[in-house]
Amino acid sequence: MDRLVLDDLELKGKRVLTRVDFNVPLSNGKVMDDTRIQAALPTLKKIIGDGGKLVLMSHLGRPKAGPTPEFSLKPVAAHLSQLLGKEVKMAPDCVGEEVQKMANALQEGEILMLENTRFYKEETKNDAEFSKKLATLGEVFVNDAFGAAHRAHASTEGVTKHLKESAAGYLLQAEVENLNKLLEAPQKPYVVILGGAKVSDKIKVIHNLVTRVSALLIGGGMAYTFLKAKEIAIGDSILDVEHLAMAHNTLIVVRNPHPYKKLKFVLPSDHLIARANNDKEYQVCEAAEIPAGWKGVDIGPKTVAEFKELISTAQTVFWNGPMGIFENNAFAAGTVEIAKAVAAATERGAFTVVGGGDSIAAIEKAGVKDRISHVSTGGGASLEFLAGIDLPGITALSKPRKKAEPAKKTEA
Ligand code: ADP
Ligand code: MG
Repeated sequence: MDRLVLDDLELKGKRVLTRVDFNVPLSNGKVMDDTRIQAALPTLKKIIGDGGKLVLMSHLGRPKAGPTPEFSLKPVAAHLSQLLGKEVKMAPDCVGEEVQKMANALQEGEILMLENTRFYKEETKNDAEFSKKLATLGEVFVNDAFGAAHRAHASTEGVTKHLKESAAGYLLQAEVENLNKLLEAPQKPYVVILGGAKVSDKIKVIHNLVTRVSALLIGGGMAYTFLKAKEIAIGDSILDVEHLAMAHNTLIVVRNPHPYKKLKFVLPSDHLIARANNDKEYQVCEAAEIPAGWKGVDIGPKTVAEFKELISTAQTVFWNGPMGIFENNAFAAGTVEIAKAVAAATERGAFTVVGGGDSIAAIEKAGVKDRISHVSTGGGASLEFLAGIDLPGITALSKPRKKAEPAKKTEA
């Protein structure tokens, strides 16, 4: 990548302010899934191993009203401490005098975890003063939070303006290197499968994606906004009214035979539906239209077969977003079938990438996580990257100091 990376930094004796994505699910003060913490360990071990003084910062959830115990990173610090077999000091805040003192007092190889950056509204506003305060806690900056790299926040972007050197951690670097293979010269057919529930984030980039891919398969909660835009009845299915117009525009772009002549844009032609107010009552709906009083909870068998067919000839696959409410076993079949089809594509020699928190949970549920070429920790971030959009968290990092190495080419 054309940015400074962790291995370029002099770490010994330095306070290394490190942005990680520790936005993990918590329940009763316990970490329920530590995938994101595990993913950052190589970077953290390198920093403390080289004698750096590690200052960790992250967001957690979406606290609306300032500091709230349920969004505290304390349980995460405790979990990390167990994983590393080492003390992780917990700061009472992420900025301020007391925190500054704690950071300054760190010895080589010691770790300080800052409190949730989203306890301040200045974080998401990328406030300059707040960014400066965060920056004073470190001497160099490392960003390993790929999942947050598509957001220009104080802890991902603003902070880099007040530190001399900012570098990509190992996780961020690996993400960029793997996703670059899809961005630069993906082997065709290149099939992208999109689903899930975060329609607003994802629908914006579909526009950019359509010029790059051979087929775009839409399932999950996202499909209903598109079906609705086509004036197909969706009953009580999840709908993002605010993005209907955008979905409509995308439909016009993909319908137009030029210049994306060869693009296949596929929406579900059948569904599994459940009663709007009773998940126990469900059945296959053989048509694209969903009757009133029912909601789509998974793609139907016809759609599964059609998606599988297209995946079976793909040389490159990217998947983000489950095909249905897969957390409920009764509604998981479509997601599990697609997961298996993507795994089979990998074994055939295709380069496959699955990204997003829930999508990772889905491939785990399907038991195919080790049969995917690259599992990306970012959902929205990987999607934007693949759409060719610059991610502010990456762009803000320092340019390489020495003469740049020749850009990595794809394997193909
Ligand atoms: P990711 O975390 O992989 O980026 P999202 O967060 O966008 O994915 O979406 C995952 C969520 O989407 C899951 O909780 C799943 O239950 C939900 N979902 C998928 N299909 C539907 C549907 N038809 N109706 C409602 N929610 C859905
Ligand atoms: Mg999610």
